[in-house]
Amino acid sequence: MTAKTMFDKVWQAHEVVPESADTPAILYIDLHLVHEVTSPQAFDVLRSRGLQLRRLDRTLATMDHSTPTDTAQIFGGMPIRLESAAKQVRQLELNCAEFGVNLLGLRDDRRGIVHIIGPELGATQPGKTIVCGDSHTSTHGAFGALAFGIGTTEVGYVMATQCLLQRKPKTFSVNVTGKLPAGVTAKDLVLAIIGRTGVNGGTGHVIEYRGPAIEALSMDERMTICNMSIEGGARAGMIAPDATTFAYLKGRPYAPSGAAWDAAVADWQGLRSDAGARFDKEVTVDAGTLEPMITYGTNPGMVTTVNGTVPEKPGDEVFAKSLAYMGLNPGERMTDKQVQVVFIGSCTNARLSDLEAAASVFRGRKVAKGVRALVVPGSQQIKREAEKLGLAKIFLDAGAEWRESGCSMCLGMNGDLVDAGQYCVSTSNRNFEGRQGIGARTLLASPASAAAAAVRGRITDPREFLA
Ligand code: SF4
Repeated sequence: MTAKTMFDKVWQAHEVVPESADTPAILYIDLHLVHEVTSPQAFDVLRSRGLQLRRLDRTLATMDHSTPTDTAQIFGGMPIRLESAAKQVRQLELNCAEFGVNLLGLRDDRRGIVHIIGPELGATQPGKTIVCGDSHTSTHGAFGALAFGIGTTEVGYVMATQCLLQRKPKTFSVNVTGKLPAGVTAKDLVLAIIGRTGVNGGTGHVIEYRGPAIEALSMDERMTICNMSIEGGARAGMIAPDATTFAYLKGRPYAPSGAAWDAAVADWQGLRSDAGARFDKEVTVDAGTLEPMITYGTNPGMVTTVNGTVPEKPGDEVFAKSLAYMGLNPGERMTDKQVQVVFIGSCTNARLSDLEAAASVFRGRKVAKGVRALVVPGSQQIKREAEKLGLAKIFLDAGAEWRESGCSMCLGMNGDLVDAGQYCVSTSNRNFEGRQGIGARTLLASPASAAAAAVRGRITDPREFLA
């Protein structure tokens, strides 16, 4: 029997009709996650054709992209200030009520960023196919699911049929050997991988992250890695489920229980790639050689170490244009750069362990004069836990803002924006031109690096704050 990769196993189990030279495969979808930005047109199509959702029990909606993070606008009776956001929130409420979709609404204590609440509720499970109208759906691959973003039109197809037309991607093994040094995080690792393989390195492929350094990661850290697969061009990222995965899922509201749990775990254990399985592409990275990373350009592949310098690429006009936007020069030391904004949040790094890492730097210190620091938990559940553990107090005592959950400054659709020309160290995943506001300059880094920049007012090696 041919040895199979984990991706092949999940794909084949969901292939309703295999692809041919002329037609893509028809793939069955186990879980469809819905949010307010990419769903209105899909609901309109269903309405205009007189269709219903094919599987309401496999559809879960939340709101995150345009929701306010200001408590008064959610719980204080104040209207949502941004008209476009208020409209999207209202429309999702109306659509979900009309079609019977399970919605974790604005004041629901299970609400949060779609890629954070799926795992948190246990809806994200190994071996599932998961889609959402958002590219960072790759996050869910951390559980051994095949999870990827789809377009608005496809959101409608999945609602109506629970299936999707897909060409089969190739496979890419990213083997991470060694052990991450102290003070070097999963975010640094994934930035280093993208820096090495490039923003198009994964194009047309599904990445499987494997090796001892990956197996040693917590689920929060694995989600950070898979979240950014899309920034390396990949369709999805996956990590084999193991004891860490099962321990995370056990007892969560949507996870199986009793005999069904035992049967599920037995199934999930068979998902990992068979010994000798062949990948279309492979790369090996030694985690032991890595340092804290930070981006300097306008894509996540333009990355260096926090103690590094902006590289030189004579004659590369695209590179020069990117540096001009960022107001940086070749040879400049990253630690010389002053910052005006720090954003700790997003589906990449707003889980409890990320907030703990940031709080360990903020504890007993103050945000530097002239810096605005915004801490936005990934879900209401994380918010509650962080408050219970005293993390929120640490942020507030330091002078940072502590908000309700949502995507917030990751893309600023709710009005949480960075001003033109300002430098923002952000724990999110995209540093494209204008991502955080027109003219905003985004520097991607880990929560510890972001907190260190907030305290010092310039880019700083977070290891200076290690206890
Ligand atoms: S936090 Fe950012 S990347 Fe993640 S789902 Fe929201 S907007 Fe997309």
